Amino acid sequence: MQKRNIYDFTIEEWKSWLKEHQEQGYRAEQIYQWLYVNRVDSIDEMSNLPQSLRAKIAEEFEFQALHTLTEHRSQDGTVKFLFQLHDGHAIETVIMKHNYGNSVCVTTQVGCRMGCTFCASTLGGVARNLTPGEIVAQVVESQKLLDRTGERVSSIVVMGSGEPFDNYDATIQFIKIVNEDKGLKIGQRHITVSTSGIVPRIYDFADLKWQVGFAVSLHAPNEELRTRLMPINKKYPIKELMEACHYYINTTKRRITFEYALMGNVNDQDEHARELAKLIQGMKCHVNLIPVNYVPERVYTRTPRNQIFRFKKILEDSNINVTIRREQGGDIEAACGQLRAKHMDLEFRL
Ligand code: SF4
Repeated sequence: MQKRNIYDFTIEEWKSWLKEHQEQGYRAEQIYQWLYVNRVDSIDEMSNLPQSLRAKIAEEFEFQALHTLTEHRSQDGTVKFLFQLHDGHAIETVIMKHNYGNSVCVTTQVGCRMGCTFCASTLGGVARNLTPGEIVAQVVESQKLLDRTGERVSSIVVMGSGEPFDNYDATIQFIKIVNEDKGLKIGQRHITVSTSGIVPRIYDFADLKWQVGFAVSLHAPNEELRTRLMPINKKYPIKELMEACHYYINTTKRRITFEYALMGNVNDQDEHARELAKLIQGMKCHVNLIPVNYVPERVYTRTPRNQIFRFKKILEDSNINVTIRREQGGDIEAACGQLRAKHMDLEFRL
């Protein structure tokens, strides 16, 4: 039997599992304590569990260790891990240092099948989805690194390689696990999920009515351009995406962040800013402008600084909240897939 990843379960699932195995429910909290507070690496270390229970756990679960292939540290404190999964695939996880704490950017898939033309993560398509435990393990490993300096993971952005809503169930399970009070205790408001616009899942996510932050990678103000940049737009055009966004805002009463990567002479002209302003006018939202970097595999170039500010001003003149994202970890290619500037949760007002 293929063993499950020990990080796969919520505390309630551990309780049910214990019940099925004629064990006491309170052991679930002990297991959580070992996994997420003491952060042990083996079932044998769970010393307050009876040997018989440890043996039962070991029959069905295992630590599918993330093997650190590389750990690069940037001058600004950003740490980029390249982890090897138990089946040999490699994934990236990034820790970003802010003045308000440490944010971890997690990956949800090996690669991505969305095909965005400005993104290096999608160049090889998707190899497979990550399990909830594999996503959780990225946070646990990041926390272990921070333990050395007495720091903690204070927020999580689900913006690494992959489309989280293309691996929806695992993403939702992941959020439940890291949010658990007896475990890592990352508050919902300290977690942000970003999607390229898988419309049916936006409705599902809205219906959860969680306090989790929500971002949509928009990157273009009209159907023609967005389809050119993001093939997902053929399936879920902007019109449907915007309806789903309105539904999200009305259902959760929360605002949406629209991510907009500025690409030189592609989507960064004044008319694009005006079109964008019209598209999202009156919505409870915020725009995060991301000046893209040069990517060796892609042809896009950087928007000149004065044009970034013109773009921002046009939006602000329409009473739209705008920030420009600061780059971090540039010297170690911290952005996932090298270009994925959208992952850097580092916005500031210029
Ligand atoms: S930008 Fe995101 S959704 Fe688009 S291809 Fe890259 S990882 Fe996938």
